[in-house]
Amino acid sequence: MKVAYCKVVVLVDNRALSDEVETTWGFAALVETPREKVLFDVGPDYELLLDNSKKLGVDLSGVDAVFISHWHGDHAGALPDMPTPKVLAVPSINSYAKEAMNKGCNVLCSEYPYKIFDGIYSTGGLGGLLLREHSLVVDVEGFGGVVLVGCSHPGLEKILSRVEKMGVKPCTVIGGFHVGGWEARRLVNLFERVKVRQIAPCHCTSEDALMVFQAELPGRVIDCGVGRMLTYP
Ligand SMILES: [Zn+2]
Ligand SMILES: [Zn+2]
Repeated sequence: MKVAYCKVVVLVDNRALSDEVETTWGFAALVETPREKVLFDVGPDYELLLDNSKKLGVDLSGVDAVFISHWHGDHAGALPDMPTPKVLAVPSINSYAKEAMNKGCNVLCSEYPYKIFDGIYSTGGLGGLLLREHSLVVDVEGFGGVVLVGCSHPGLEKILSRVEKMGVKPCTVIGGFHVGGWEARRLVNLFERVKVRQIAPCHCTSEDALMVFQAELPGRVIDCGVGRMLTYP
């Protein structure tokens, strides 16, 4: 099952597209489909998430699920200050996840890919036991896979090959790629091999890596930061 459309708005990031919003080391984005709203990561600070959302005209009240890519503070730090979500997709069960379960939250966690809502999936946990990370995949009609990554700690090769195994073609990748300039060249080969249409690297992607992507993938690199809105197809 695919979704008819998908909108992604970056709410927390190291960079911003305007001076009106605040930046910080961290990441959060709202993913909207015709039926569901999923908050992908929450950044380090709830106040900042709320402030930026308000300034961008984004309403977080109707969020159907919160997706935490991995438990680093720059991605999950705001969580304890937020209202407990109805659905929470996590890379591993920690004390917060247990507490949320006790409050009636539907906590989702698996090493294998799984469906969160129709057309919206988790890759399932990847990487070492101490640093499990999963990525969000939205399969969009007439476009393909929109892949959101937190820090890409397991490596984008592993993440995108998992997406392909799920039967979804990775067409765009949004989030932290966690690479320097030298490793960025390796990723260019990966993006060419899987034929991604565009990438939106941000958060922990280094300036050197951004320069490599812009040079090697002309016209396919989106300038990303707080305030960036992307729509698919
Ligand atoms: Zn990070
Ligand atoms: Zn991280």
